[in-house]
Amino acid sequence: MIALVTQLSDAENQAWLALFKEQMPAEEIVIFSQMNNEQRLACDIAIIANPLLEHLESLPNLVWVHSLWAGVESLVKAVEKMKLTLVRLIEPMLSQTMAEAALAWTLYLHRDMPKYAKQQSQKIWHQIEYTEPKDRHISILGLGALGQEAAKVLSAQGFKVSGWSYSPKTLEGVDCYHGEEGLQTMLTNTHILICLLPLTDMTSGLINREFIAHLPDGAQLINFARGGIVNSTDLFAALDAGKLDHAVLDVFEQEPLTCDSEYWQHEKVTVLPHISAQTNPVSASKIVAKNIDKYRQQGIIPDGVDMGKGY
Ligand code: NAP
Repeated sequence: MIALVTQLSDAENQAWLALFKEQMPAEEIVIFSQMNNEQRLACDIAIIANPLLEHLESLPNLVWVHSLWAGVESLVKAVEKMKLTLVRLIEPMLSQTMAEAALAWTLYLHRDMPKYAKQQSQKIWHQIEYTEPKDRHISILGLGALGQEAAKVLSAQGFKVSGWSYSPKTLEGVDCYHGEEGLQTMLTNTHILICLLPLTDMTSGLINREFIAHLPDGAQLINFARGGIVNSTDLFAALDAGKLDHAVLDVFEQEPLTCDSEYWQHEKVTVLPHISAQTNPVSASKIVAKNIDKYRQQGIIPDGVDMGKGY
């Protein structure tokens, strides 16, 4: 028995349910709010999207949960307490979409689009000196499922690409760094920094004044990961002081942004409404179904989130 536990709208739940039923015709899959007590007791797997924890807690025989999202930071601590395996969505299509976003917004900064938009609003005709991609250094924080694909696409576009991860890595065409010292070395040579880290105890508030100080003057930031990784006070200070030239932000501590948020107004900030890589329901449902089938056939739960590391 599988429960669909989400805070999505009825229509969205029904659409997901239809896809899952198509992919897993032999499974009994029920939306949490429609489950009776017997079904709750029989439920061993939950497919989740930002679920209420009390809903998960009312499924006493759950063995593992499969998230429909790649980012599961808000769930890690609670699910660890419940002693469940938390499987997040790892999906090639999602990685490709994120890599496309990394390329799109890197080109936006690389080709000075915010500056030309501002010039147009002031009727200024001024040609900014062109920089070749090979001379533009892009650094990626996080070389996981998303960061690695982004690095590949940016490198193929001719940019000089570096990346930073927790453990040492070797990736073709990418200068790989790890550790505190590696981070500082990488930042010193960065023109555009792309954040694709998970939000954990170690990365919360990582991009603060001290961190930004390691970047060259005029560096630019793209945050596709989680708002909590950036210290907003320090970010605004760096933008105002000219230390940072521009920030493209897709994620915020509070989403949606409130009308009075300073982000909307800031001329050096491009606000995106958390759109860099959205889950594709068709491909995601196939991956979830494949993982569940493997569990049913072989008893193998896919690798879950490392609760110690928090991602
Ligand atoms: P992932 O596969 O778990 O990769 C995370 C990467 O970050 C790994 O390379 C890891 O290093 C590195 N890392 C983690 N903690 C670190 C630390 N303290 N120091 C240095 N490196 C560290 O995650 P992913 O699938 O690429 O996703 C990354 C994040 O993107 C998600 O957690 C989510 O927040 C965000 N996301 C955003 C959107 C959006 O639409 N904006 C969509 C999907 C996901 P190791 O390789 O050494 O473990």
